Amino acid sequence: MISADKKSGSPLLLLIPSVDALLRSETADWLQVECGERYVSSLAKTVAADVRAEIYGGAAGATWDTREAILAEMEKRLEKAWNAEKRSGQRRVINATGVIVHTNLGRAPLSDAAKAALVGNASGYCTLEYDLETGGRGKRGNKVERLLAELTGAGAALVVNNCAAAAYLVLTVLASGGEAIISRGELVEIGGDFRVPDVLAQSGTVLREVGTTNRTKLKDYEKAVNDNTRILLKVHPSNYRIVGFTAAPTLRDLAGLARSKGVLLYEDAGSGALIDLKKHGLADEPVISRSVSAGADVVTFSGDKLLGGCQSGLIVGSREVIERLRKHPLYRVLRADKLAYAVLEATLRSYARETAVREVPVLRMLAMTKEEIAKRADDFVSKLEGSGLNIELIHGHSAIGGGAAPAVQPETVLIALEKPGLSAEELEKKLRASDPPVIARIENDRVVIDLRTVGEPEQEKLLKILTDIV
Ligand SMILES: *Cc1c(COP(=O)(O)O)cnc(C)c1O
Repeated sequence: MISADKKSGSPLLLLIPSVDALLRSETADWLQVECGERYVSSLAKTVAADVRAEIYGGAAGATWDTREAILAEMEKRLEKAWNAEKRSGQRRVINATGVIVHTNLGRAPLSDAAKAALVGNASGYCTLEYDLETGGRGKRGNKVERLLAELTGAGAALVVNNCAAAAYLVLTVLASGGEAIISRGELVEIGGDFRVPDVLAQSGTVLREVGTTNRTKLKDYEKAVNDNTRILLKVHPSNYRIVGFTAAPTLRDLAGLARSKGVLLYEDAGSGALIDLKKHGLADEPVISRSVSAGADVVTFSGDKLLGGCQSGLIVGSREVIERLRKHPLYRVLRADKLAYAVLEATLRSYARETAVREVPVLRMLAMTKEEIAKRADDFVSKLEGSGLNIELIHGHSAIGGGAAPAVQPETVLIALEKPGLSAEELEKKLRASDPPVIARIENDRVVIDLRTVGEPEQEKLLKILTDIV
C-alpha cells in the first residue's frame, strides 16, 4: 500500500479522482436518472471529500492503491449514500408491535375500500366541488358531512385537517373573547403536543378551571358561569386515567346546565368511536352518537384513531353551530383535501353498512380474540420450523395506542424470537433494516412479534424476512 503524505505530495493523493470524474462514472450515470443531477452532484462532493480526508489521514485500505480502485470505492459509496437517503424517506413498514393506533407508524391503516377510493377517485380529477346533476359548482365534503350526521344523529357535520384544528376552530369561533369552563381533571396534554390550555389560549379564550383534579361537581360549573361564559368544555382525557375517588357530572347534566344558562356545551371526544366498543374492552370511549343525544352542542374527534380513517378532525353538532363554523374564515384555512374526503367517505360507508368491524382494519384488529391470534401464530411458527430461530409462543398484551384507553390491553399471543449468536437488540435492528422494515418490540431480552397488527398479506412478507435473516 502506498501511504499518503501531505507534505511530500503523496502519489496516492495525485491519484484521487476529481468530483467531475466521479460524476462521469457509470454509477453516477444511472443515479442521475433516479435522483436527479443536482442531487448526485451534492452526494458526489460529500463522498469525494470523505475519501480525500481518509487518504490524508492515512486510513486508506490496501486495495486503494490505484486510481481505478479509488474511483470504484467512491462509486460504491455514492450508491450507498443514495440508498441510505432512500431509506430515510417515508416508507411502508410492517407493524409487529401490537399497538393498533400507532401514532409514530401513521395511526390507522386504511380499509380496502378506502385505499381503492384514494387511488381510483381522489388521485385524479374528481367531483370534490362539482355537482354532476347541474354541471355547476358543488359543495365540498357534502357526502361525508351527510354520512357523519346520519351516523351520529347530529344536525350537521364539518371536516377539518385534524382534531387539534377542530378544537381550535370551535373555540375560536364560539368562545374567543369569552370564557370556557373546564374541570381541572381535564386540563390534559394528549400525545402529539396537544395541550388543552394552550389551544384555549391560542384561540383567545379565557380558561376558567373548576373543581379539583379528581372530583368536579355540577355545582362547581354552575358557580363559575358568568356573563363572559361562552362554553362548557368537556375533554376526554384519552391517554390518562384518574382512578379511585373521582367524580364528574354526566354530559347530560352539563347539557342541562348549559341550556339553562344560555351557553354552549362542547365535548372534545378525541379518539371517539362511532360504534360501541364495550364488547372489545373499550367501555370508556365516548360513542359520538351518545354525546350528541346527551345534548352536546358540538363534538370533535379524530378521523385516524378508533374511527380507522385518515388524518382529519371531525366536527358534529347542531346545524346552527356548524354553519357558524363553516362561515368563519378560519375554516378555509383548516379545510380538508380531496384525499381525506375520499378515504372518509369509503370508511364511513362501512359504518353505514354495519360492516365496519369486518372491513375497517383498526376495528378488525381490536376485535381479534386471543384464540384467533394463537391460531395464526401457530400456523406462522410451523412455517419457520428448521429456520435456526429459537421460537416460543408466549402470553402477552397488545395496546390500543393513539392516546386511547391506556388501561385496556387486549390479551394476545406473542411470538418470541431468538437467534443464536445475536442479541435481542441486534435482531431487532436487523428486522428494522429489512425490506420492508419490520417494527417489533423487545420484552425480557427477546424480540417479540404480535400478529394482531400484521395483516394477512404482510404475514407472508414477514415470513420471508424471518427466513432470509437466518
Ligand atoms: C388525539 C386527540 C386530539 C388531537 O387529535 P389530532 O387528530 O391528532 O389532532 C385532541 N383531543 C383529544 C381528546 C385527543 O384524544
